[in-house]
Amino acid sequence: MHSGHKSEAALLPFLSAFTKNLLTEKGDLLDAWAEEHGSPLHVVLPSELSGNVKALRVVFDEFNVNHAIYYGAKVNKSCSLMTAALEAGAGIDVSSLFELRDAERLGAAGWQIVATGPAKTKEFHENLVRLNALISIDSPEELNDLTQLLFDGEKPQPVLFRLRPRGHDRSRFGMNASEIGAAMKKIAGDARIRLLGFHFHLSGYRWEDRLEAFRQAIDLMVEARGNGLDPKIIDIGGGLPVQYVEQSDWLRHLESQTEDDYRTGRIPASLYPYGGTLSAPEWLRNLLAAAATPTLTVAEYLRHEGLTLAMEPGRALADQSAFSLFRVTRVKDLNGRNGVIFVEGSSFSACETWFASEFLIDPILIPQSGAKATSRADRFYIAGHSCLDEDVISNRWIEFPVTPKAGDLLVWSNTAGYQMDLLENEFHRHPMPKRLCIQESTTGKMSVTLDN
Ligand SMILES: *Cc1c(COP(=O)(O)O)cnc(C)c1O
Repeated sequence: MHSGHKSEAALLPFLSAFTKNLLTEKGDLLDAWAEEHGSPLHVVLPSELSGNVKALRVVFDEFNVNHAIYYGAKVNKSCSLMTAALEAGAGIDVSSLFELRDAERLGAAGWQIVATGPAKTKEFHENLVRLNALISIDSPEELNDLTQLLFDGEKPQPVLFRLRPRGHDRSRFGMNASEIGAAMKKIAGDARIRLLGFHFHLSGYRWEDRLEAFRQAIDLMVEARGNGLDPKIIDIGGGLPVQYVEQSDWLRHLESQTEDDYRTGRIPASLYPYGGTLSAPEWLRNLLAAAATPTLTVAEYLRHEGLTLAMEPGRALADQSAFSLFRVTRVKDLNGRNGVIFVEGSSFSACETWFASEFLIDPILIPQSGAKATSRADRFYIAGHSCLDEDVISNRWIEFPVTPKAGDLLVWSNTAGYQMDLLENEFHRHPMPKRLCIQESTTGKMSVTLDN
């Protein structure tokens, strides 16, 4: 196993123990998997997701706070990750009819499902109502549409109202406080609907922003009670951070990077904070310990009011739960010290560059025996197999300690969160890449199944 890096600025990825063992000890196995199932191949590790649910629960238990964790399933198309979430006691946040169908097929009951997405069709609503699943209402218009599907004498439909907090006026999601006020008045006394609480989901990854929105939700709680309603939940959405690389490596890279580090001659416009300061459990701990009111922390307020903190982490629950491997098809020298590595597969299967962004983790080279390396280049960018100039997995010039050659494998670690299959398609009529689900039994036996 060799991580590629510009010698002074390595961005070695954090790896789970299981992944590290696979990549260092089991190169032949990876080779055999790629041979059998094709390249690229996504290797899914559901036990990592279970571990991430447990790690958040430890924090909630530490603060003795009632909680509901829903896995934001849009982050990855794998069904075995959904199953792992359910088995770990989490629910599922579904944002389409199709995610809902999968959740149901995998055994999720209505109470284990929440739908927080903004654009729900009538059929999606009908199915959520049938299951009595929790629905976050994004707009007065959605409330109108939903109430038309509800009937007297049925179990009340549980809903959250999605808040668009102050300072987020340009967001198209949620309702401002006065719209929520009007919506509360509208449903007060309607036995068909039950306001379970308030929800928000913010872009960015700062817990401080959630704290600010949480304080606004507290005001809505007071207003709700004034309307004779009795909500029980504040739902803080997702956006918990993932750490991909050591923070010091990350900062050093940001400080030292120049335009010459990218084949585009441009430093990427936006980057995920790959080496952030906080893990997801630390982030949650900071939030729970912060002041919600002049006298109470968030945790104290929730306990005092008998409320549940709900959340829908996507990326943070999928942390370390998949990696993606690509077969090197050809290594081509360009000019001077530069080369390009063509891989079998496209940047749709490891997508960062399509977002004017870039992978800021080094891919891991797993050399295979066979032909001798002939390239004389000493740094490479990595391109996919399509004819589009944009089909580039890494625009960053990467150096490898061992010269890459056709037949080698390149692994991007930790791709489960939005990277591996968000944009995947059958461009050039290449078949859809496969996902391989790896599970280890209590006796240490590895089971390998296709994850469909
Ligand atoms: C995408 C999404 C999430 C999950 O976000 P992450 O950043 O992956 O944690 C949660 N809630 C809503 C409403 C979302 O749209």
